[in-house]
Amino acid sequence: MRAQLDPVVCIPSCEDQDGHPAALFAEDQICFGKAMTVALSQEEPERSGDQERAAYVDTYTQHHPGGQLSVHLYATTARDDMWLDLTAAEALKLADNLIAVAALVRIDAEAIR
Ligand SMILES: [Zn+2]
Repeated sequence: MRAQLDPVVCIPSCEDQDGHPAALFAEDQICFGKAMTVALSQEEPERSGDQERAAYVDTYTQHHPGGQLSVHLYATTARDDMWLDLTAAEALKLADNLIAVAALVRIDAEAIR
């Protein structure tokens, strides 16, 4: 039987709140907050055999032991998956940009109807 790791102090938004002692390595003792998911209707779903999984973007808090807190984005589509770590300030700027660009897309959609 493998010895468990000493628990880390979880961030308040961590879903587990157990210090992740069962992680294989200390660097795997990562806190994750609850994922907030947006399904992506313009991306092809991911297929594996008979299974089909919708493309989506998850957003959640993340903290690596001894590391920085981040807003973590994880996106998966039929083509690929990718992830990004942003500071809170970067995430807020991205949110502002998304709102501004979405407003432009709505104006463009009205114009070409
Ligand atoms: Zn945790």
